[in-house]
Amino acid sequence: MRLATAEINLTALTHNLKKVRDFASNSKIMAVLKANAYGHGLVQIAQSLNEADAFAVARVDEALALRAGGLVKPIVLLEGFFDKTDLPILLANNFQTIVHNETQLEDIEQCDLGGQLTVWLKIDTGMHRLGIHPSQFINFYQRLSNNPNVNADIKLMTHFACADDLLNTMTQSQIAEFDACIKNMSEEVCLANSAGIVGWQQSHGDWVRPGLMIYGVSPMLEKTGNDHDLKPVMCLKTRLIAIKKIKAGESAGYGANWLTSKDTYIGIAAIGYGDGYPRHANTGTPVMINGRKVPLVGRVSMDMITVDLGDVLQDKVADEVILWGPELPVEIIAKHADTIPYELLCDITPRVDYKYVE
Ligand SMILES: *Cc1c(COP(=O)(O)O)cnc(C)c1O
Repeated sequence: MRLATAEINLTALTHNLKKVRDFASNSKIMAVLKANAYGHGLVQIAQSLNEADAFAVARVDEALALRAGGLVKPIVLLEGFFDKTDLPILLANNFQTIVHNETQLEDIEQCDLGGQLTVWLKIDTGMHRLGIHPSQFINFYQRLSNNPNVNADIKLMTHFACADDLLNTMTQSQIAEFDACIKNMSEEVCLANSAGIVGWQQSHGDWVRPGLMIYGVSPMLEKTGNDHDLKPVMCLKTRLIAIKKIKAGESAGYGANWLTSKDTYIGIAAIGYGDGYPRHANTGTPVMINGRKVPLVGRVSMDMITVDLGDVLQDKVADEVILWGPELPVEIIAKHADTIPYELLCDITPRVDYKYVE
């Protein structure tokens, strides 16, 4: 019997990639696969994204795992390389690198690669995480252009801080800052993450960088994937392993901090924070059993949760329990756990079984 299982729907994945094309029909797509493809399985997800123009990851090891898995598309390293000894590996494996600081630029200038790297120059337009200050742009661009280790086809990038919020004016000022910086240049540009793709059409450049939305999850505040015709790719499931009746005034779970006000049946489901189900999911977080939503009650344990099945017994041991999926958006669960869907997806642990379905 399968207990905690992440069922990954590859048909939903390809549907979502088509939706990216619909949103940004003039842009090439760099599908973001960092953190084990947001917890969905790096190589399996990549193998189903034939229609993407490139892949993007955050770590050199993630890029190497894609090559080891037989993937041949261009791969962009979103944080670039971390040490000059990475550079020959980048060249040998056709990894494209972001350059976002002076150290990286000097490392490239001081080596003799015997080949040319494709470089994305990242400009910090206000997020103040990675990227060079706009005032450094000309200097960096010229030094890269003049360097024999760098392909003359330099590409330009920035990243948004607040694109999930349509009322926030920061995205528009970031776009304006970027445009001012690169004016009169014909290089390819890439600005938009999922929220830029869905919410800010003016940010769709030559390339877009969708992550969350290809997994069927909304990047926008207060929305779910369904609002943009995206289909959730992951369905996290398990089974009931026990049912018991408790009386009004009795508790369930560690700390005995939840008490039932009436006699009820408690279902024990085989999933917990040891599987990546969030410990901070509060009492009342919805869980689906036999087509209806029932509330999580009491604390999440390492291997189990307790749910209130109600005073009329309709369920039995081994029945399926859905934690999130098409009928129960992970965005809603994230709200109940005081976090974001990105974190819930990434936090799935190796104990969970993966099942890929069409
Ligand atoms: C993770 C990441 C993305 C993808 O973001 P989503 O919100 O998941 O679409 C795009 N660009 C950069 C630089 C990132 O780090």
